[in-house]
Amino acid sequence: MKAALFQGPGDLHVIDVDSPSAAPDELKIRVESCATCGTDAKIFGHGHPRLNPPQIIGHEIAGEIIEVGKDTSGYSVGDRVQIIAAVPCEECWACKAGKQGICINQTSMGYQYPGGFAEEMIVPAAVLKANGVNIIPGDLSFDEASVTEPLACALNAQRLIHVGDGDTVLVMGAGPIGCLHVRLARALGATKVMLADVNGGRLHLSADVVKPDRAIDMSSEDLAAIVLEETEGIGPSVIITAAPAGVAQEQAIAMAAPGGRVSFFGGLPKDKPLITVDSNVVHYKELILAGANGSSPAQNAEALALIASGKVPVADLITHRLPLSQVEDAIHAVTSGEAIKVVIKPQGV
Ligand SMILES: [Zn+2]
Ligand SMILES: [Zn+2]
Repeated sequence: MKAALFQGPGDLHVIDVDSPSAAPDELKIRVESCATCGTDAKIFGHGHPRLNPPQIIGHEIAGEIIEVGKDTSGYSVGDRVQIIAAVPCEECWACKAGKQGICINQTSMGYQYPGGFAEEMIVPAAVLKANGVNIIPGDLSFDEASVTEPLACALNAQRLIHVGDGDTVLVMGAGPIGCLHVRLARALGATKVMLADVNGGRLHLSADVVKPDRAIDMSSEDLAAIVLEETEGIGPSVIITAAPAGVAQEQAIAMAAPGGRVSFFGGLPKDKPLITVDSNVVHYKELILAGANGSSPAQNAEALALIASGKVPVADLITHRLPLSQVEDAIHAVTSGEAIKVVIKPQGV
């Protein structure tokens, strides 16, 4: 079968590999859709500390079961399924506390296990143990189901800062994750949702699709003044930074409403992890700052249901569909901001 093998930074090529077979405690799927994201771009550019090449990457996975290990239960050949990306151990203190996103023994599809940029893929026993295989409901497409995992990560972040009824939300960063945050905040009850980006082209592409109440082009507009004006002089009750920029995190703390909640959703480059914060702003405004890392299997199931019910539509976020042979083009389309979500179709477009 064909698979996209990552062999080191800048080295991602589609080659022929042996088709894997499922052990008794595993499933095998035919990959129908595997979406690309910023993490794939990061891996392609710089590698990843938890990933030892060579490895088949790709972690936003949907497909059809074609082989069922004899010791598994609950799944049949022909089932259409979505697979989690981050695999919790279900044994450590974090997992036992329901905080699988910060599992200390976390493994991931496309890192420790061969991922979804391949015609076929094994669903490892650890994924089954963690309840990480979700049946795709009704006639929801594989493409839409493949966007479940990033939505689950957004859901994890918004739950940690309790986004809900009446919130005024500013999302900083208009990439695919920013778009998902806009839609999710609305689904969770936010009354006003604003979207800002320093890249005017990307902002307009995304704003045309997700239609925030206010799109703010930070390259030409005064973000702080606009959000104040849009929130009756109070500031947003929720700010989510979905960009790898320390300055966005610093601005978020400065702009949030008193009592506001700030999510540092996007991580910073590992050589630039420090920011400068007026700690007294956090102190006197009683801000709540939260990180966000991945998602739990339960959040994946919930995200898939949000997509299937239409509460968080994603079909229109998928701007490009490409064959496996163009996986590198897909990654460039994501990085340049010319695409919102790009789905790789290993069985052909
Ligand atoms: Zn991803
Ligand atoms: Zn764990």
